[in-house]
Amino acid sequence: MKNPNFNREELILCLDLYFKLDYGQMHGRNPEIIKLSEDLRNLSLHKKIPNEIKFRSVNSVALKLANFKRLDSNFEGRGMKMGAKMDRVIWKEFHGHRDTLKKEAFIIRQLNLKNQSKNKNTASDPIVSSKSEFYFQYHKNRETDPLVLKVKKEIVFDETKKLKCEVCGFDSLAFYGEIGNDLMEIHYVKVIKNEPGLESSDMKDFIIICSNCHKALDKNYGLLDAGDLKKIIKKK
Ligand SMILES: [Zn+2]
Ligand SMILES: [Zn+2]
Repeated sequence: MKNPNFNREELILCLDLYFKLDYGQMHGRNPEIIKLSEDLRNLSLHKKIPNEIKFRSVNSVALKLANFKRLDSNFEGRGMKMGAKMDRVIWKEFHGHRDTLKKEAFIIRQLNLKNQSKNKNTASDPIVSSKSEFYFQYHKNRETDPLVLKVKKEIVFDETKKLKCEVCGFDSLAFYGEIGNDLMEIHYVKVIKNEPGLESSDMKDFIIICSNCHKALDKNYGLLDAGDLKKIIKKK
């Protein structure tokens, strides 16, 4: 029996790596391809794997990346002939949207790969490129503005009579009693696209959040949003 075809999640991870490599690097001796093969074998997305040894072998992953060349108009040589319909679907969906691709790949790893903690990142600093550091600073400035913090909390408290984390449901006051009175934070959910200084602020652009969820989101700023984190918690 044949091993299952690459599914959507697997192809997203492959395409994500495809765009990080030069054409000449898509071979079975490339450490990044070896690592991806390892990750794909650990994803446990398929119920039945008839041939464990061949399943997502380094060579099959290298071949899958080579298949994308066929769909890539930047590539002048000839890509591999065969290749599933699904390759084309994923290519069409993402080749013009690399940021979305990167984000989806990140979430797939978070949702399906165990032992991600090995991937260090000891500091609580966000994993950001210098390009988005500016946006992250702006994000922090917005959500630590004392006036915005006060107004947002008041609005939510008036409406719901409590301040619960909108991601995990944690309610510091209910948990700690009076001592937990002022522990909740706010998180700016708006995606800043350009000219951050000109963004207007609507209280709907902020959510009430606990310190832990907030740390998780800000550490992965630009990759993980509140909805994604909710999904991850649900899956636990
Ligand atoms: Zn929370
Ligand atoms: Zn934040």
